[in-house]
Amino acid sequence: MPALHEQLIPVFEEVVNRNPGETEFHQAVREVFESLGPVVAKHPEYAQSSVIGRLCEPERQIIFRVPWVDDAGQVQLNRGFRVEFNSALGPYKGGLRFHPSVYLGIVKFLGFEQIFKNSLTGMPIGGGKGGSDFDPKGKSDAEVMRFCQSFMTELYRHIGEHTDVPAGDTGVGAREIGYLFGQYKRITNRYESGVLTGKGLTWGGSQVRTEATGYGTVFFVHEMLHAAGESIEGRRVVISGSGNVAIYAAEKVRELGGTVIAVSDSGGYVVEEGGIDLELVKDIKLSRRARIEKYAQERGNGARYVTGGSIWEVPCDVALPCATQNELTASDAATLIRNGCKVVAEGANMPSTPDAARAFQEAGLLFAPGKAANAGGVATSALEMQQNASRDSWNFAYTEERLRIIMRGIHDRCLTTADEYGSPGNYVAGANIGGFTRVADAMLAFGVV
Ligand code: NDP
Repeated sequence: MPALHEQLIPVFEEVVNRNPGETEFHQAVREVFESLGPVVAKHPEYAQSSVIGRLCEPERQIIFRVPWVDDAGQVQLNRGFRVEFNSALGPYKGGLRFHPSVYLGIVKFLGFEQIFKNSLTGMPIGGGKGGSDFDPKGKSDAEVMRFCQSFMTELYRHIGEHTDVPAGDTGVGAREIGYLFGQYKRITNRYESGVLTGKGLTWGGSQVRTEATGYGTVFFVHEMLHAAGESIEGRRVVISGSGNVAIYAAEKVRELGGTVIAVSDSGGYVVEEGGIDLELVKDIKLSRRARIEKYAQERGNGARYVTGGSIWEVPCDVALPCATQNELTASDAATLIRNGCKVVAEGANMPSTPDAARAFQEAGLLFAPGKAANAGGVATSALEMQQNASRDSWNFAYTEERLRIIMRGIHDRCLTTADEYGSPGNYVAGANIGGFTRVADAMLAFGVV
């Protein structure tokens, strides 16, 4: 593990002591701190004003009870979270995750990452994140609706278009955003479109928001390869997950002439050397909400399903981890490098363990961290907010072009910042430092608040 700058050691120790047991949050903070040494050395004002310590302490953390009644008439109980982490650049902005693994440490890691990611987009959005340990899997639509209504019955008092604007994340898609928005509208008696993003297209949503995170990740890959004088055309691509991010990353890879040969879910992965049939994946995962195992059963054509195991065993040129945190370990990284993988871009948040991320950088791969590569989702959410504020709606082509330009901007900002701070070509350093300085400068301007 690389040493931290001496001024950052006590700050990191305090983060660990103040937030016991929140290992994912510690990991996310450490990962950023490992990049900040040259910044602290060049700008002593950040340390003198304790801006870094303040950045690690959320402005507000909300934890609440979410009772609801299942289809059998039984009362069920979940816990809800919203961490309003940093509003230096704009209203708190970040998704809601519904998954049984959600606890405060996960929400804080995601909220912390979100601050830097949102800053990197160059848009006026602060960082926040929320969710619940509710598991939508296997629940009826009516159960999901009752849960969402109960969740919003508490959350509504904390959010607003100028305060905090949640969106979707794992387990929260268009269906959940619909139920959440419906309840918000009912309780407040206001049609406040800008309070949530990821809305349906007929009621205030933006074109391209559904596709944005996956498309944006592939735009970022395109920019990295372009800067290296190469392209995605003809590349073999492996994508973990088969949810929102993975599916639309696969769609854009196909459009740009690459071939997606494997996708996965939490049960295992499927490989089809000639290229995955994306329409079948969409039908299985988005329409039927079934297991990816069905793909091999229904497709034939040489497709095979591997239970458990690691999708990173499949040799590829480009790897896009788009499932969940810490899904790609040091040993997976070693396998990818050994098999000749050239590019890794994180569609998910923190999918590579710290050892894996380091291995990619040491081996000289083009490695894009999630806070840069997957920022297209939140950037398009900010475009949705813009459209809501002006009561306008843009067409698909225009919105996608805006997304493409934003991703190019993030890419270029990473490279220039990495250069400026002595790590040329290092996207991790560029993303962490570029994201940090914009927020830190705003915090300095505001004084001690
Ligand atoms: P979804 O819930 O739509 O999809 C998640 C996918 O990952 C599912 O296919 C799920 O499988 C799979 N998965 C979960 N755990 C594992 C595992 N351990 N191994 C293999 N597959 C697994 O979520 P999203 O696509 O929205 O989000 C994915 C990641 O991207 C998350 O890290 C999220 O924070 C991040 N992200 C999402 C954004 C968005 O706009 N949606 C924006 C920026 C980042 P199963 O079906 O079995 O559960």
